Amino acid sequence: MSFKLTSKPVVAKLPPTVEFSSVLESTVMQISRVFAHQVDLPLVETNYKWAQGKSVTTFDSTIVGIETKCGLVGYGEVCPLGPVYLPAYAAGVRAGLKELAPHLIGLDPREIVKVNEVMDFALKGHPYVKSGVDIACWDILGKFTKMPVCELLGGRFGDSIELYRAISQLPPEEMAANVAQYREEGYRRFQLKVGGDANTDIERIESTRTVLSPSDRLVADANTGWTLHEAIRVVRAVKHLDVYIEQPCVTYEECLTVRQKTDHPFVLDENIDSLHAFLRAKADKAMDLVNLKISKLGGLTRTRQLRDLCVATGYAMTLEDSWGGDIATAAIAHLAHSTPENFRFTSTDFNSYVTVSTAEGAPQRVGGKMKASTQPGLGIQVRQDALGPRVLDICE
Ligand SMILES: [Mg+2]
Repeated sequence: MSFKLTSKPVVAKLPPTVEFSSVLESTVMQISRVFAHQVDLPLVETNYKWAQGKSVTTFDSTIVGIETKCGLVGYGEVCPLGPVYLPAYAAGVRAGLKELAPHLIGLDPREIVKVNEVMDFALKGHPYVKSGVDIACWDILGKFTKMPVCELLGGRFGDSIELYRAISQLPPEEMAANVAQYREEGYRRFQLKVGGDANTDIERIESTRTVLSPSDRLVADANTGWTLHEAIRVVRAVKHLDVYIEQPCVTYEECLTVRQKTDHPFVLDENIDSLHAFLRAKADKAMDLVNLKISKLGGLTRTRQLRDLCVATGYAMTLEDSWGGDIATAAIAHLAHSTPENFRFTSTDFNSYVTVSTAEGAPQRVGGKMKASTQPGLGIQVRQDALGPRVLDICE
């Protein structure tokens, strides 16, 4: 058999109708409106306390909407853990969106990396501001392709996602009682909010471990609350217990010092706020697991990037956000469900901590687990009556 090369390359030409429809499609898929709602999310437990006496009673969440010329609407959510957890605050989400929105008009939300590049050029830093826009773009891409976001992020791994329960900081016996109660509800993974008085924190860890089964996972998350010497005292005092230590101190260097003085499994959270921070920590062997929060990293696109790097380099993850309601929980579920199971340490069903539901179709915890929706996009329908009036509405 022989082949004859033609003197001219054969160029496949699209029929005129296809060219026309693709031009038309790219036009109608342009972003024509960016809007936002502010929603108060009171807590079921009425209060959530963590390190150094910090607390929140009602979360201030921003629901972000992106609308295309053809009327396709995608939603995202950004809900900081108050103004003193990460360098993020609720009113800052809305102020930042006002800055960003004019730059988004006319973009194709399906070109998500491009949208992120435009956002980074228009507003330096402030990843949490961009997170809701990015999530809304994934929702639109899913609705356009008629695919759930988890399938677009890599595929659905396993049947369900293992959740942890965050245990608000209280006296040791009350925290142990709360762990026992949430264990009855099906949770098998718990994150104790420590980072207070070191002696009391040692009691918190000891009393909680006694109400758990050997296979249950316990994390002591100090949320940067310990000074270096206190952190070292705590890890020495609980050396005999099966407990993970998460983000003991404020700085990366302090955490690295604690890490080098303990053999407890070690989690970094607040310090891992970018791909570069992870690469540095990996080079220093500064942790065994990482906590990835969608808004801390700037949205699903950037979190997926780091998630994939963690999988490739052997780091299991807590996949979650700083807080939120139904829409944030849906985004977490899609991110987690698209992550290979042995790299999923835990995730969070934030919508079960709050009293307000903002969307139908959001994941619901069953026996300490949840699932990502099988419907297109995030698989949620927002409850317009729960959102109230728009606090931001910018259109072309
Ligand atoms: Mg943490």
